Amino acid sequence: MNGQRIDSSRRIKISDPVTGEELASVTDTQKDGLDQAVQAAKAAFPHWSSKTWNERRDLLASAMEELKAHTDELCTILTAENGRPYRMADFEITRILETYAPTLLQMELPDSTWNETGVGQITKRYVPLGVVAAISPWNLPFLLSFTKALPALLAGNTVVLKPAVFTPLTVLRAADYIREILPPGVLNVISGGDDLGPWMTSHSDFQKVSFTGSSETGRKVFASAAATLKHLTLELGGNDPGIVLPDADPQAIAQDLFRSMFALSGQGCVTLKRLFVHESIYQALTEALESCAQHQKLGDGFDSETTLGPIQNRPQFARLQKTWEEIQEAKTPILYQGEAPSEGAGLFFPVTLLDNPPAEAAYVIQENFGPLRAVFKYRNLDEAVRLANGTPYGLGASVWGTDPESLEAVARRLDAGTVWINQHLNLHPNIPFSGHKNSGIGIEYGEDGLKEFCNLQVIANKR
Ligand code: NAD
Repeated sequence: MNGQRIDSSRRIKISDPVTGEELASVTDTQKDGLDQAVQAAKAAFPHWSSKTWNERRDLLASAMEELKAHTDELCTILTAENGRPYRMADFEITRILETYAPTLLQMELPDSTWNETGVGQITKRYVPLGVVAAISPWNLPFLLSFTKALPALLAGNTVVLKPAVFTPLTVLRAADYIREILPPGVLNVISGGDDLGPWMTSHSDFQKVSFTGSSETGRKVFASAAATLKHLTLELGGNDPGIVLPDADPQAIAQDLFRSMFALSGQGCVTLKRLFVHESIYQALTEALESCAQHQKLGDGFDSETTLGPIQNRPQFARLQKTWEEIQEAKTPILYQGEAPSEGAGLFFPVTLLDNPPAEAAYVIQENFGPLRAVFKYRNLDEAVRLANGTPYGLGASVWGTDPESLEAVARRLDAGTVWINQHLNLHPNIPFSGHKNSGIGIEYGEDGLKEFCNLQVIANKR
């Protein structure tokens, strides 16, 4: 905060999701601490926003270079606090440092000028908003924090960033490394408990809230930010469908499908959660998926043989167990269920594939955030499209097959912000990302995402 490490005797314990033991403790920021962070960000704004675009870009690039020198340590902390395999932690960190940041830092939002008859010379400018509140979830703590902070800062805003209650460690460590590269107050990272988010969204000195989390919390953020009419970007939950057309080759696509469904142990907003497979290839594809599932090893992220980690936190694990009870009560057929490690207090849920459950059951329509996925057999494509679109979510979707025209035609019928063809989950910093329906409001990534951290200003000069 304001370029300083602030410690406090009020602490929050951070648990290791594999052992359940205490991993670390962090400052439990209270209202006065939040006020200090906001004041620091406010005070830093005039200086930071008046720097040239290139000056800000160069400072941010230096900050990312500094983090690169500590990649191994950041991956170790991320593996420890999130529980995922180390190489997946490495993917998350390097995705920001080697792909996202370099791509973003090439973007610019220059003024544009033209003459408009009867008005004069028009100049259109993108100007920063002021102080931005960034709130991120626990499933990709580093990535989802920096995909907010970096564009906000590049555009000239200053930032108060709050990582999730369960996973603040990697982001705090990263902030500690870059706090002397960026001017004081430009980026403030605060940890805290359940009250800190609501205090932020109702704080009158933020001009914008950039939030990623569940749709349920998104609604609260929307309501809370309304009182002070803040700008909002809400990236929320997803229940992504995939439709496999009859001309798909099951062996060729099974691995990609499995990865799309079970990456991060299913704790991903755009993981593929409901798979609709044409009846003619249902058996061949489900056998291929089962074969992928048999090769998974759940365990400690630091064990090099582990392919999937635990559920990150106890409330999420309890939600998953409740869903599992509903599935059992409904006597839903199971295609496959793997083994979960029994030793220790680890929050492990086995890889589970449901065999053609009722597509409109409540436990299918809700977002299942864990390694529990439903596979449906369809005969009629129109019906599959209707069911695929039949949830309150619209984040991602995909279509799999071989005939380009059929793939494109089905893709256009799916109600989602991103529809992939023969792939899923493949986000790129140049490509805008947004949710339809309850999956969000606003855009991240790409130039469209960068513009969300700006006010548009027009200067109309009568000549
Ligand atoms: P969550 O909504 O519980 O929490 C997200 C963040 O909001 C955390 O930092 C939390 O501390 C904070 N928060 C909680 N209550 C708040 C409130 N009332 N006001 C302000 N902030 C509050 O979500 P989660 O469980 O951490 O993350 C999982 C969810 O995030 C899933 O639904 C997932 O689909 C979604 N998600 C979406 C995207 C996307 O880009 N659309 C990406 C990742 C995760």
